[in-house]
Amino acid sequence: MSTTGPASRATVYGYPRQGSKRELKKATEAYWAGSSDAEQLLATTRQLRRERLQLLRDAGVEEIPSNDFSLYDHVLDTAVLLGAVPPRHREAVPDVSTPQGRLDRYFAMARGNDQVAPLEMTKWFDTNYHYLVPELGPDTSFALDPEKPLREFTEASNAGVITRPVLVGPVTFLLLAKPAPEVGDGFEPLSLLDRIVPLYADLLARLRAAGAEWVQLDEPALVLDQPAAVLDALRGAYATLTAGVDRPKLLLATYFDRVGEALPVLRDSDLDGIGLDFVGPASANLADLTAAGGLGDKRLVAGVVNGHNIWAADLTAALDILENLRGLAGRVDVSASCSLLHVPLDVALERDLDPGIAGWLAFARQKLDEIVTLTKGLTAGRDAVSDLLRANAERLASRAASPLVRVDAVRQRAGAVADADLYRASPYGKRDLVQAERLNLPPLPTTTIGSFPQTAGLRSARAALRTGTMSPDSYVAAMRDEIRDVIAEQEEFGLDVLVHGEPERNDMVQYFAEQLDGFLATTDGWVQSYGSRYVRPPIILGDVSRPRPMTVEWATYAQSLTDKPVKGMLTGPVTMLAWSFVRDDQPRADTARQVALALRDEVTDLEAAGIGVIQVDEPALRETLPLRDGDRAAYLAWAVDAFRLTTSGVRDETQIHTHMCYAEFGDVLQAIIDMDADVISLEAARSKMAIVADLARADYPNEVGPGVWDIHSPRVPSVDEIAEHLRIATDAFPSERLWVNPDCGLKTRGYPEVRATLTNLVAAARQVRPPI
Ligand code: GLN
Ligand code: ZN
Repeated sequence: MSTTGPASRATVYGYPRQGSKRELKKATEAYWAGSSDAEQLLATTRQLRRERLQLLRDAGVEEIPSNDFSLYDHVLDTAVLLGAVPPRHREAVPDVSTPQGRLDRYFAMARGNDQVAPLEMTKWFDTNYHYLVPELGPDTSFALDPEKPLREFTEASNAGVITRPVLVGPVTFLLLAKPAPEVGDGFEPLSLLDRIVPLYADLLARLRAAGAEWVQLDEPALVLDQPAAVLDALRGAYATLTAGVDRPKLLLATYFDRVGEALPVLRDSDLDGIGLDFVGPASANLADLTAAGGLGDKRLVAGVVNGHNIWAADLTAALDILENLRGLAGRVDVSASCSLLHVPLDVALERDLDPGIAGWLAFARQKLDEIVTLTKGLTAGRDAVSDLLRANAERLASRAASPLVRVDAVRQRAGAVADADLYRASPYGKRDLVQAERLNLPPLPTTTIGSFPQTAGLRSARAALRTGTMSPDSYVAAMRDEIRDVIAEQEEFGLDVLVHGEPERNDMVQYFAEQLDGFLATTDGWVQSYGSRYVRPPIILGDVSRPRPMTVEWATYAQSLTDKPVKGMLTGPVTMLAWSFVRDDQPRADTARQVALALRDEVTDLEAAGIGVIQVDEPALRETLPLRDGDRAAYLAWAVDAFRLTTSGVRDETQIHTHMCYAEFGDVLQAIIDMDADVISLEAARSKMAIVADLARADYPNEVGPGVWDIHSPRVPSVDEIAEHLRIATDAFPSERLWVNPDCGLKTRGYPEVRATLTNLVAAARQVRPPI
């Protein structure tokens, strides 16, 4: 392949918004608290964008995006851009003639206020980023509000950089939307495509007039299995957009998986450039693109650096891919697989990272260097970057050989897992009898999901322990006090199966990650979860094992305070993976198995310590379902196996619970059955117990606790309301296999509503219980 041809360029689809000290979080929260004004907030955002622009330019990124910045969320920005503001938010903030008015309406949509509920929030594809779900109906009055993309473009061009504005594309925008509350569920937002495409065309012309040469339209929805009707809509929309005379060149970006059936549509369109992901499950794009004969003279933006994970890239392997791609497009540019929004900012910010390990990692800033190196290697030949390639290969080799990464004892144990380890000794029908005898619970037993309110006192105790102003002994004493109070409260409410309340846990994944070998915590690896909320996912670095028990002392202390059964509480293996950055050097299934074995030891230790009920939470099981249908069965198989491996080592009389929330469970019902937990609690209040009928239809054979309290709201449901929910459940499902509990943990709630609701919950259960 010749190295002449048009030179490749280094680019990214987007960069973290937060600022190196999370200035954006502080600035928005100060604005919400009323301690700063619109002017101050906007000044901070301008400064952050200026710094970002400088950083990207200094790093050598040749084509820099704009409008990837957001005060809260880019899908919300798109709704505002198109005028898709629900009537309730227009009424709540009628005047948007001032910057403050605009901000207040925007934040009302994002977070709600005293008068109005916000838009719903949900996960952005298979990341842990949440976007706001646009609400649309036949009466939505679209009108272009182009201020933000134009302002951010002009701001950068005034600083001397012609950026590539980024927009959520029209097809993805509509596919992510839902029918407005006043509209029936049958309404298809995609039917509005013809109404929004002209607004996009108008915006493109304005961006062109402002000097934009390229505009990036993000269409990640194309990596989901899409029916022919969606592909037709896509074809039509982009035929219109590319027909515009005064338009910039258009780059359609896809990421997170392969584009599959949409590839021929994109290839045959008049789009000027296509962005494809070549990492993980999306590596199939390479074969698909080859089979399709390439993109002709279109520009290909090749996502060869993983934007979804934190490992240093294998630069030589990435160059191999890039060189293969060069014959398949008019020009090949180098990028991360997706926006760098989903990884932390900079490894250099880490305060106690071993320098050897630091070299294995690439956060957003390091990924820029990788992209620039690859671009140079592709354009000027490998010799031009041979030193960097050699250093990269050495770092990868040191990672592969590290005793932190490969622990033979762990690998041997994982390799020796037998089928029998995945099965309880007896089927549920038999376990149920011994458990009933041991636990002696009433019909419709009551319980909670685990956490009790995380009070300011608990948080400051944890902070004091961290900074050393509280001794470990006094910290333990403070937690024990809390557990004693939580147990006493639960006895007061009359609950049947108690919990210790999880006061000692900062976060349900981090708490275990800190105690397991093979996990690495970061000090500054913040990633945006939603709005001003950032999380620091742990990194699974190497083979995982449990050096010592993690929860047994807390659980046995709690059990010593009461005659009622106390439920031990663990986070399941699938959720541990889902909310961490996972290894890229072995299949997820192998990592999950190691985590499961570590947790299995904890389960058996809890059992040996006399804990008769053990809950293994898997709230994330549904959310890491692969994006493509064809990949789902394999995922569910290993996910279910990991759960079973965690929980099957106990005797029949030990009752295993699990818990799931934040998701529709319809497409994982069989997996829920296969998990074979004795009891599962599920979020159900908002859907008025619809899941119970689904479980009945699926012949769910074990016990279930459909949530009767939507814990996302402080509202206290009355006894009658809870009883009403319970009757819906007992009408649909055998009542001898039903439990009564809230939707999820109570950590974000306050004590007043917790006390009132749990008292009502117990009263409702007693009312609905059949007489014994
Ligand atoms: N046991 C956890 C809690 O109650 C479960 C949290 C969750 O489902 N996300 O907080
Ligand atoms: Zn939950």
